[in-house]
Amino acid sequence: MVKAFQFSRLPFIHFSTGKIKVLPGLIKRYGKTILLVTAGESFVKSPYAETLSEALLREGIKYLHFVVSGEPSPEIIDSVSEKIRNEAVNAVVAVGGGSVLDAGKAVSAMYGVKGSVREYLEGVGTWEHPGTKLPFIALPTTSGTGSEATKNAVISEIGKNGFKKSLRHDNFVPDIAIVDPELTLSCPPDITAASGMDCFTQLTESFLSGNASEYTDALAWEGLKAVKSSLVQTCHNGDDITARTGMSFAALTSGICLANAGLGVVHGFASSAGGMFNIPHGVVCGTLMAPANAITLRELRRGVNNPEITNKYVRLGKLFIETRGKPDDYYMDGFVEYLLKLSDDLNLPRLDKYGIKEEDIEPICRITELKNNPVKLNLEDLMEILRSRL
Ligand code: NAD
Repeated sequence: MVKAFQFSRLPFIHFSTGKIKVLPGLIKRYGKTILLVTAGESFVKSPYAETLSEALLREGIKYLHFVVSGEPSPEIIDSVSEKIRNEAVNAVVAVGGGSVLDAGKAVSAMYGVKGSVREYLEGVGTWEHPGTKLPFIALPTTSGTGSEATKNAVISEIGKNGFKKSLRHDNFVPDIAIVDPELTLSCPPDITAASGMDCFTQLTESFLSGNASEYTDALAWEGLKAVKSSLVQTCHNGDDITARTGMSFAALTSGICLANAGLGVVHGFASSAGGMFNIPHGVVCGTLMAPANAITLRELRRGVNNPEITNKYVRLGKLFIETRGKPDDYYMDGFVEYLLKLSDDLNLPRLDKYGIKEEDIEPICRITELKNNPVKLNLEDLMEILRSRL
């Protein structure tokens, strides 16, 4: 029998190579003035910057341009929100990686409300956001976060007592997502690998989540198939538009799945370790995915029988391993081995590179949330996961 589930809204999705060209026409529905949020160099040097600015001018669309470098902090969001509150802005358009999309999403949400974004962040502030916002159009240029389809924007303050927390509301799902795989062609291999592993983690965690439904499983499975055929190829041959298209599709589905099924312990680490140390989000996810699944699987076998999750691990193994006719344990272990090999193939950095030391392990693990991990893990388990990637 199909389990009960609920599913939040989706953006209107335009998906295909070359789709960026529909942007000016779509903006016109909202008005003549937009806030354009982009990254610095990676956008300005791209072939799209000039074409887009010419197309906007041709359509008579005025734009205020805001450049985001790095993952957005409360100060950045507050300063831009302050500047545009007195302007008659009709929509926000963000073209960039997850950092840029989240910055655009947050600014569109802060346009009509008072105070600092900090007051509305989960686990940081205490004010409830009414869900009002400016229309928001998202164009991802990395294949990873799926922010083009999620209802949250991640805001970070990095340091000893730092945080990575979400501004979240069902209404914050972008109105329109234009997913044009060509925009990801310029991603260098390290960013492609990190963001691709973020996407892979999101699909796996939402598939294994206690909150998963038949609906999210069906989507996650198609995303995982795309990861299998495209992730390694995009990292080794970034010009392969077929593989880039596969990863753009996988990232979009990962965002839809995480918004509706939730995530697991790897994303718990992304908030805890990522709040205390300046580590790219995709690197934390990618580097911890293999040990987190190894320990989760170990505890699954030690705990009470959980046929649903066991079966899902078997399915994951069968998807990523070609050999047929083996017992279930072979596929469960094989999935973890595949992840370990992938960490080497993609050259995923270890976390000591970003300053994490042995004495940081316990403080990080004490504040790491399990989220919807399918199996409970204790402090020692978490420390084992993190220590294995120093
Ligand atoms: P990013 O946006 O931080 O970008 C990483 C780097 O890649 C930047 O230097 C950027 O300029 C560059 N870049 C982006 N696109 C490029 C391109 N096409 N060519 C060349 N360079 C390019 O990285 P990300 O992994 O996409 O996003 C990470 C952020 O997203 C984190 O803050 C994370 O917390 C957040 N996130 C949000 C959600 C959500 O649902 N809102 C989900 C997961 C992660």
